[in-house]
Amino acid sequence: MPLGASLPACRTIARRGRAPGAAARNHGAAERISCVTGRPGGRRPAGRKTRKGTERPLKDTSVDLATLDLDRHAFFFDFDGTLAEFTNRPQDASISDRLRDDLLRLSERTGGAVAIISGRGRSEINERLGEVIPVAGLHGVEFPDPAESDDPDRARRVAAVRPLLEPLRTLTEAHPGSVLEDKGEGLALHWRAVPMAEAAMTEAATRALADLGDGWIIQPGKFVAEIRPRGADKGTALRRFLAVPPFAGRRPVAFGDDLNDLPMLRAAREAGGIAVAMGERDMPADVHLPGPAALALWLERRLAA
Ligand SMILES: [Mg+2]
Repeated sequence: MPLGASLPACRTIARRGRAPGAAARNHGAAERISCVTGRPGGRRPAGRKTRKGTERPLKDTSVDLATLDLDRHAFFFDFDGTLAEFTNRPQDASISDRLRDDLLRLSERTGGAVAIISGRGRSEINERLGEVIPVAGLHGVEFPDPAESDDPDRARRVAAVRPLLEPLRTLTEAHPGSVLEDKGEGLALHWRAVPMAEAAMTEAATRALADLGDGWIIQPGKFVAEIRPRGADKGTALRRFLAVPPFAGRRPVAFGDDLNDLPMLRAAREAGGIAVAMGERDMPADVHLPGPAALALWLERRLAA
């Protein structure tokens, strides 16, 4: 059954695939893509009890991803956990040639109204996508605007992070499998391969934040604690894209999987658009997709329609 038929017909779902055997648990089972309408604010409908793993009726409105008008929408994608499957080491994450080609085709079909909004640095995304799709990096700290590239604060932020790297590298060496990611104007500690290291990692991140002082925050995520400059977030990045052609005047559709994507999903909805939550994290959104494989299949079929 084509995805174009399966999504609008999706009337119930085991919530985010948490029921045993549900499609959402298996990111490779793209044929069994499911969707649910969102719960703005994460609230359940009043008077209706919902347990994990039970089917829940759709709310009043549903979003049909299969027939989104490519002439009227703009598309914003997070990278890790949204376009790319998670890997134990962030440097190993990648997307298939097919998905990269489809993103380019989507960009062409929308007049260029496709952007990546990632917590990674712009250069890392550009390496993987070939610099043909605009990228906001470091949660919007890096933006593809030449006027921003001479930001005088950038060098100061990069310098502030340098002294933290060596002690944190020592920490990750003491927890084999954990990874310190140097993001230039920030850093991230990853422990996906060693969940037992979480306490040590979060403690170290808290200490590092105290050393940096004001102007920095910890951005929690899935098996990661990231330290980044305060101010920008993925929501501000989406709004900046929407303010300029070819994004201006289009309804945004934002795809994200983690807590750091919430400002972007919220900004999309506030702009009259659609929020798509990826994976199992319980996030308020209009649509939920089980993972990158499902997104890739949706894109493939939407472009073929
Ligand atoms: Mg992500």
